[in-house]
Amino acid sequence: MELAIRTAMLKLGGRLLEDLLGLDAGHRGPRAGCGNGHDAEFISYRAKTIDTVVGPVRLRRAWYHCAACGRGLAPRDAELGTERSSLSPGLRKMIARAAATVPFARAAGLLAELAGIELTVKRTERSAEADGTAAARAISAEADAIRSRRVVPLRPAGPLPDKLYLAVDGTGIPVVAREAEGRRGKADDGKARTREIKLACLFTQTRLDDDGKPVRDPSSTTCLATFEPAGQFGVLLDAEARRRGIEHIRQPVVLGDGAAWIWTLADQHFPAATQIVDLYHAREHLHDLANLAARLLAGHRDDWLATRLEELDAGNTGAILAAGRNLDFTGSLAAERDKALAYFEHNAHRMRYQHFKSLGMFVGSGVVEAGCKSIGQRLKLSGMRWTLAGATGIATLRCQDASHRWDEIWQRPHSQTAPPHLASQAS
Ligand SMILES: [Zn+2]
Repeated sequence: MELAIRTAMLKLGGRLLEDLLGLDAGHRGPRAGCGNGHDAEFISYRAKTIDTVVGPVRLRRAWYHCAACGRGLAPRDAELGTERSSLSPGLRKMIARAAATVPFARAAGLLAELAGIELTVKRTERSAEADGTAAARAISAEADAIRSRRVVPLRPAGPLPDKLYLAVDGTGIPVVAREAEGRRGKADDGKARTREIKLACLFTQTRLDDDGKPVRDPSSTTCLATFEPAGQFGVLLDAEARRRGIEHIRQPVVLGDGAAWIWTLADQHFPAATQIVDLYHAREHLHDLANLAARLLAGHRDDWLATRLEELDAGNTGAILAAGRNLDFTGSLAAERDKALAYFEHNAHRMRYQHFKSLGMFVGSGVVEAGCKSIGQRLKLSGMRWTLAGATGIATLRCQDASHRWDEIWQRPHSQTAPPHLASQAS
């Protein structure tokens, strides 16, 4: 019964919308601008079916042809935002929301269950990925504009935050074979199955709690994600940091897991930033070292590790190095030990945790990293194999959501579903 009512309501809504849309058939005279500076000639009226949140709607609209461009167009489509899609903007927004949250088949199922909208899994996937990649292109264009100073971000409103953190991480995303072709990986056959997505979370911090621990400014986190190489990631991160007002904020801080590319990038773009190895990552490295030495240390392993962890919290990498060198390994184990110790040696100045804490700084990205991880998680569910474009689209949707910039995706004109070749023409 309930279903029947809903179906009837949707039909009614669809008819109402059809009638409303029918009031303007988009005739703009015998000639109308084609969008590229020419006049296009009116040809006839053509029908198109658009799927909307109230079901399919049939639309009759004026069709023009531009001889110079050699293409047809309906001005009404551009006005309605259905120029390159047979899905209404409202429906695409719903699809994007669902597909950013859960796998495509589940998203299509949710739309059917909650809104009575039947879409194939493939269409759900294509629509969400297209809107996500369009958003990624818009972010990239915005980054270029900020870096070339064509756009100058405003000083952050209100009292300035004291510190801006840039937490940077990379993680492997399973991709289809062609996206990993010719790349070396960790699998037995030496072939790569994943590509690294680089993630950044930016947040600000102004105050300390009663125990003197730093408190993240509420709603201050924004995220970005890309498969681009470190160089281009740096460009995007730099632009995002400027958008967030880094030029006005007293203390920038870069938090990383210790990967060399992160510090190279920090030196290049944020020379004034304090560099900190995320404490949780550093702890993992100590656990690994203790496991390596488990046999050697026998019953003392846990005590040994506890002492090293205390030394780490105190930022005493000298003591960690001394204790590590005392581990009497031979052969390949000795080489592994030296490699593990090199991590603490090279990053010693980024592990002065006592000092950083005394300055009221975060030394581990904890909460924020969880946010970053959740962006990766949607892409890592079992059995998934991504194209880079598809994964970029979904990661971007998730970032926009986490950054409270969701609605901006839909407010950018002409950014919605243009395939790459059209987008480059348009700019
Ligand atoms: Zn034209």
